[in-house]
Amino acid sequence: MTLRPILIHPDPRLKKVCEPVPEVNDEIRKLADDMLATMYDAPGIGLAGPQVGVMKRIFVMDCVKDKEAAPEPMVLINPEISWTSEETNVYEEGCLSIPDQYAEVTRPSEVRMKWLGLDGQSHEEQFDALWATCAQHEFDHLNGKLFIDYLGPMKRKMITRKMEKLKRERARAGATKDPIL
Ligand code: ZN
Repeated sequence: MTLRPILIHPDPRLKKVCEPVPEVNDEIRKLADDMLATMYDAPGIGLAGPQVGVMKRIFVMDCVKDKEAAPEPMVLINPEISWTSEETNVYEEGCLSIPDQYAEVTRPSEVRMKWLGLDGQSHEEQFDALWATCAQHEFDHLNGKLFIDYLGPMKRKMITRKMEKLKRERARAGATKDPIL
């Protein structure tokens, strides 16, 4: 397993619609392993292809909150939303591509998704609570949409400026080989 660098907003790759995965092969299995390792390492509860620069319709997630509980890694390939509840939920969301920024986002509280698993088989499941929010957040990534796109323009601009500053600082630290504290 290899940890892959996570793209930070703003990046044109985070704004693009991703291509379907044509077949589940070794390359995709390796990608899924790397994405799960990268997500757990971050740490995060979800990670989508474009966040590691792979413009394919795949995301991983594990929303088990209890640190003592067994992990429940999930890999969703070519996911589709087949149903969403009328009832909504508000969660304070964050994103590995927008570090340390959080904002409340309203989404359907339950969602039903169909996807292709690593076994090459079709799966369908209904998600609720944090799993539903995470699945929709990751699904959005595959269509070039970020959680800040649900916020007002002022808030979105403020967060984007902070990220531009963070990227400049990281680039400078990398260029001078200073340790990143
Ligand atoms: Zn995200």
